[in-house]
Amino acid sequence: MASFFKTPIEFLKGVGPQKASLLNKELGIFTYADLLQHYPFRYEDRTKFYKVRELHQQMSNVQIKGQIISKQLVGVGRKQRLTVQFADDSGTMELVWFSGINWISPKLKTGINYVVFGQPNRYGSKFSIAHPEIEPLTPAMAQQEFLQPVYSTTETLRRKFLDSKAFFKLQKILLKEAYNRIPETLPEHLIKQYAFLSKKDAVAQIHVPKNQQLLQKARFRMKFDEFFFMQLRLLLQKKVRLEKFRGQVLQKTDLLTQFYEAHLPFDLTGAQKKVIKEVFADFKSGKQMNRLLQGDVGSGKTIVAFISSLIAIDSGTQVALMAPTQILANQHYDGLKEFADKIGVSIALLTGSTKTKARRIIHEELKSGELKILVGTHALLEEVVQFQNLGLAIVDEQHRYGVAQRARLWKKNENFVPHVLIMTATPIPRTLSMSVYGDLDISVIDELPAGRKAIKTIHQYDANRLKLNGFLRKEIEKGRQVYVVYPLIEESEKLDLKDLMDGYESIARAFPEFPISIVHGKMKAADKDFEMARFVKGETKIMVATTVIEVGVNVPNASVMVIENAERFGLAQLHQLRGRVGRGAEQSYCVLVSSYKLSKEARTRIETMVRTTDGFEIAQVDMDLRGPGDMMGTQQSGQLDLMIGDLREDEPILSIARQSAQSVMSKDPELTLEENRLIKIQVEQQKKKNVNWSRIS
Ligand code: ADP
Ligand code: MG
Repeated sequence: MASFFKTPIEFLKGVGPQKASLLNKELGIFTYADLLQHYPFRYEDRTKFYKVRELHQQMSNVQIKGQIISKQLVGVGRKQRLTVQFADDSGTMELVWFSGINWISPKLKTGINYVVFGQPNRYGSKFSIAHPEIEPLTPAMAQQEFLQPVYSTTETLRRKFLDSKAFFKLQKILLKEAYNRIPETLPEHLIKQYAFLSKKDAVAQIHVPKNQQLLQKARFRMKFDEFFFMQLRLLLQKKVRLEKFRGQVLQKTDLLTQFYEAHLPFDLTGAQKKVIKEVFADFKSGKQMNRLLQGDVGSGKTIVAFISSLIAIDSGTQVALMAPTQILANQHYDGLKEFADKIGVSIALLTGSTKTKARRIIHEELKSGELKILVGTHALLEEVVQFQNLGLAIVDEQHRYGVAQRARLWKKNENFVPHVLIMTATPIPRTLSMSVYGDLDISVIDELPAGRKAIKTIHQYDANRLKLNGFLRKEIEKGRQVYVVYPLIEESEKLDLKDLMDGYESIARAFPEFPISIVHGKMKAADKDFEMARFVKGETKIMVATTVIEVGVNVPNASVMVIENAERFGLAQLHQLRGRVGRGAEQSYCVLVSSYKLSKEARTRIETMVRTTDGFEIAQVDMDLRGPGDMMGTQQSGQLDLMIGDLREDEPILSIARQSAQSVMSKDPELTLEENRLIKIQVEQQKKKNVNWSRIS
């Protein structure tokens, strides 16, 4: 049976060797199975006929029954067009052809009924459809319920007559033979629970839907399938890991109590407490923790990391915190040190620029167990860095580190794999974290500390420069400081640097009374640090910079963030930049400056920033705009290759698929029960595929 689906596509009636080779090249369709999985990406509704009078500007494709009243050739040569007056009993509209006129014109006759299909546009008082599909009305058409699937194809394929309609024909031919051979993939108990269509009916209805209702059921079933097995794979990975690695039991809390009683600088938020509980439960469990901590900028992840560290240290182990950049490592070090000093816990910083002598001391104190917390960059991974007993590894990451890299951190303890807490300040939508981090436990800090004033975000056009400067002057006179940020993108670095310097000069001209700092990527590190330090101390009032300040600066007195060319920044970056202000007690502002000319996407980005400060909501919009793959970068996009599921709209289905996978796993972790036989078969097949894939790459 399996071999049928592996039949090369050239053997399908209507394909042949030439088209087959094109299908291979253009769409990666090699076999019958590949073609069946080339699902329509949308459907055109042919179930409803509209009246001319019902047309409006926002419609996509519609179909209309009517007759041709007259036709007329207008213009000459290349400008020639064919216009047709088309009417039903409610009104008249126009059909227009700009090309293929000689071919279409003779087919258009008065006095017979046609069905016209296309997107209406209004010109003056009349609607018009350019290049509609047009066919004589047949009695069958008048009655049928029909959803026309639309398949993605390419220009090359279209030229060889493999357009969407051709795909539809091929699918129908293939389904005739394939239908009865399509194996069921889900067990009876799940099919019953969700009243699923059988797999073969779902596949058939996806390609040739009988009606809306069956189509929805088919899509539900197919999406569930995809998400279910994806989640099952992640849960199996997690299970293997939990079985392979025991975790050290960390449960002493004397230090913690002492810290709570004497040194806690503020009340923890409910969300912080919840996360600390989750971590503590993991520590006590004897299992090795692998937890992702998501929390927006300013949500207070540092104290959570520190309190987790205290438990680990109290139980006689050490803690490592690894950050992707030196600036971030520095910042984490400063943040943690503030707490550590209060309670007398030793802490050190190790980066590429740590001097040899200091380095040697760190190495020794780590080995002896004297040093409790080590913060650093990749320098932590070096062979010479050895702990006496590493109990907790905290990883701060923007993008997920490779498995190999993390494994190196794990190896820092010979007896136990350390507990791992991954922190990220880039919120990602739930569907995305369930897919990319589905093998981890996830904690979310979804609440900001009380008393924060929401940052006010304003969109301002370039032309209003004077008004903006007036506002900045007023804020600075109140004692605040201001960031002015310019984009810096690799390809046009020169241009951007010029933008930045021009900007700096015009700001210097506009504010002769205030000292100004400038920082950008082309400066020497020492100069950068010097300028940064001046701003931190409040000696300079305005910081003109590129996005180098995106992470790692903490100046509570800076309360205004001006982002120039805001249309050129992505949402995640805008959100990170805005997170640089709103850190003090004063009302903070973010001003997004753009030109009048904005693409639709840029406008959406800016409007989103103005509307909300909620990082998760922003991340959701970002995913809608860019798609999940782009959002996560190439490293993860492979994991996100879905045939039919869509992380942008299928959260409900993904959630129940995950729940189902969890309940199957908890009842039958080895998938040995007869009732889960079909699941086991699928999982084995997936495994085989994964092996092959990894061999190729
Ligand atoms: P992030 O999650 O961005 O790392 P931080 O841990 O740096 O956030 O916290 C941001 C600021 O908020 C810090 O100044 C920190 O001291 C403060 N903070 C954290 N938690 C609370 C709280 N529960 N109440 C008041 N302030 C808090
Ligand atoms: Mg932080």
